[in-house]
Amino acid sequence: MKALPIPVLYAKLRERFGYLDWWPGETRDEIIIGAILTQQASWKNVEKAISNLRSAKCLNLKKISTINVNSLERFIRPSGFYKQKAARLKGFARYIFSNYSSLDQMLSNDTGELREELLSIKGIGKETADSIILYAAGKPMFVIDSYTKRIASRIYGSDPDIEYDELRFDISGTIPDDLELYKDFHAQFVELGKAYCKTKPLCNECPVKSYCRYYSKTAR
Ligand code: SF4
Repeated sequence: MKALPIPVLYAKLRERFGYLDWWPGETRDEIIIGAILTQQASWKNVEKAISNLRSAKCLNLKKISTINVNSLERFIRPSGFYKQKAARLKGFARYIFSNYSSLDQMLSNDTGELREELLSIKGIGKETADSIILYAAGKPMFVIDSYTKRIASRIYGSDPDIEYDELRFDISGTIPDDLELYKDFHAQFVELGKAYCKTKPLCNECPVKSYCRYYSKTAR
C-alpha cells in the first residue's frame, strides 16, 4: 500500500471535519493554564477547573503567582493531580515574573530560545511547551500528542513509541511552516482520534480508511 502523503492526509481530514477553530482560551494566560491543567486529564475536567479559577478571578498567571496554594489546589482539583499541577502553575508563574516584566515579553523570544526556556521550567514537557508556543505565543510549532502518535502508527505503520521530536520533524518537514495550518492540523488529529481512531478504532466509518495500513491489514 502506497503511503498517503501528509499534506493529502490533512486535505482529507479538512474535507471531513472542516476548519477547526480550536484550543479554547480567551487570553494567553488562559491558554497556558489550560495547557498545564490538561496534562493527564480530559478537557471536560479541565473546563471545570478553569471555570472555578474564572469565578474566583484567578484565571491569570499574575494572580496565580501570589494566590495561596491551598486555594489554588481547591480550584483546580477537578483536573486531577491537583497538588502537582498547583505547584507547576505556581512555579511557571513565578518564573515568568522573576525573569520578565510580562508574559508577552517572554513569549516574544525567538522560537528555539523560547522552547528551550519552557523546557527548563519544572513540569513543562515537550507537548506542553509546544502547545504554549503554538497557541499562546502564536508561532508555528507542530504539537505531537497521544492521538497524533496513535494515528501515525496506524496509518503509516510508524513506531507507536516514536520519539516526540522525530515524529514532529517527520510531519512538519512535509508541510509549509504556517501557523494556522499547524493549529488546524493538530486539531484535525485530535478530532480523528476522538471520533474514529479511538483505542478501539471505528475503522468502517473512518474518512481515511482507504489510506490506512492498519485498516488494510484488519479489514475483512
Ligand atoms: S482506518 Fe481505523 S486505524 Fe486507520 S485511521 Fe481510521 S480509525 Fe484509525
